[in-house]
Amino acid sequence: MAFDYDLFVIGAGSGGVRASRIAAAHGARVGICEDFRVGGTCVIRGCVPKKLLVYGSKFAHEFEDAAPFGWTVPTPTHSWETLRDNVAKEVDRLNGVYIRLLESAGVKLHLGRGRLMDRHTIAIGEETVTAEKILVATGGHPVSPDVPGKEWAISSNEAFHLAELPKRIALVGGGFIAVEFAGIFNGLGCEVDIVLRRDRVLRGFDEECRTAVNEGLRSSGIRLRTETEIVRIEASGGKAPFQVSTQLGGMFETDLVMYATGRAPNTAGIGLEKVGVQLDKAGAIAVDEWSRTTVPNIWAVGDVTDRINLTPVALMEGHCFADTEFGNRPRKPDHRDVPSAVFSQPELATVGLTEEEARMRLGEVRIFASAFRPMKATISGREQRTFMKLVVEAATDRVVGVHMVGDDAAELIQGLAVAVKAGATKAQFDATVGIHPTAGEEFVTMRTARAEPAPRARAAE
Ligand code: FAD
Repeated sequence: MAFDYDLFVIGAGSGGVRASRIAAAHGARVGICEDFRVGGTCVIRGCVPKKLLVYGSKFAHEFEDAAPFGWTVPTPTHSWETLRDNVAKEVDRLNGVYIRLLESAGVKLHLGRGRLMDRHTIAIGEETVTAEKILVATGGHPVSPDVPGKEWAISSNEAFHLAELPKRIALVGGGFIAVEFAGIFNGLGCEVDIVLRRDRVLRGFDEECRTAVNEGLRSSGIRLRTETEIVRIEASGGKAPFQVSTQLGGMFETDLVMYATGRAPNTAGIGLEKVGVQLDKAGAIAVDEWSRTTVPNIWAVGDVTDRINLTPVALMEGHCFADTEFGNRPRKPDHRDVPSAVFSQPELATVGLTEEEARMRLGEVRIFASAFRPMKATISGREQRTFMKLVVEAATDRVVGVHMVGDDAAELIQGLAVAVKAGATKAQFDATVGIHPTAGEEFVTMRTARAEPAPRARAAE
């Protein structure tokens, strides 16, 4: 049977755009559909606009820190409208860049929602196309618990378009999106509450790093309402102020509630069950290590498969799929030692195993850790600490985890991730000359392992 396309991709986000461009570069006839905006979550309402807001919010601290360095800064004022509109302009620009990337790669873009009609047929609105192979790259969406009054709350999707900044905001959740937006709103002058079920933010990260971020958030004036949940949101006429009730009879007032309580894969209403694509227990598309679904000519990559939900991982999965199926170069995505960052204030970045994971999986480990006041803070006077940790497998001397909380942690850890991926040993870290004066030099000058037994590392909850 002659198909319209060799490959049709549903969803033009990070994974879908990468896979389609690479497949086309390998000579495939490729079509792609998108029902919102080309670029996907990362470009339109995730990584990119979020990081720009982080930059915007950080100026507040820079202005405060400037005086002891001799600067006289007139009382700064901030225009949310200016920041919001400039971020939106950059998102529009990138959206255009992504559309042109597809065009120049020869990928045909179909605007509209894609649905599988059978194993080779996709409907996009009124139109139908056929393809030999299909890739599902539909990403995910925010989810929040069913709580009376939640219709007045927003998610990260809406946070980028607020008509005005609230005076007070309550962020619900302890994950990376909640803490990143807490820093953004705090820097922009809002009074911020974080409401979370656990005792600390960022479950799953190294326990000491979690504590360091928690302390950093508190010292910047963010209120953490821990080990509780919102049970009701009330307001007269659905307008601020909102009365927020928490478990055990707690109550507080805020002007906006933003849920950041997790994301779920976009699997509904796209015909997956009709063609036999199975989901896993968590509702994500079940795939093997080649991103193959349970249907032989259908693959899935990115957040819809809920492996590691990060843009560079979706890119890697999409690229590997395209090389394997169209480039005669079979390769599997490698999900080991994926570095990641949380652009909270203070920033956290990490690669490899946490101390807790390493102790559980490898047995004996050596821990090198350092907590210090960053040089800039000695003059600015800011209450700020930097925390760094190396996790070393005792039997092999291999550095299996590198963690940092502090300024530019993400930039630093990206470089160190190469060393970890290459299997560098602690001796090789020690043999590396530092750059002075930097925070990063600490990673190559920590000589004394922490005495064992370690302070009881809390097992991951
Ligand atoms: P997406 O990029 O979500 O793309 C899926 C696309 O499919 C979307 O455009 C969607 O509209 C479209 N679609 C869905 N269903 C259909 C359909 N039936 N038909 C047609 N089109 C459809 N990751 C990082 O690495 N670093 C960060 O700093 C970071 N920050 C983030 C901040 C926020 C607030 C959020 C929400 C996420 C962040 N992420 C970050 C995660 C990152 O955005 C995702 O991991 C990444 O975008 C996943 O790519 P994807 O291709 O799987 O899906």
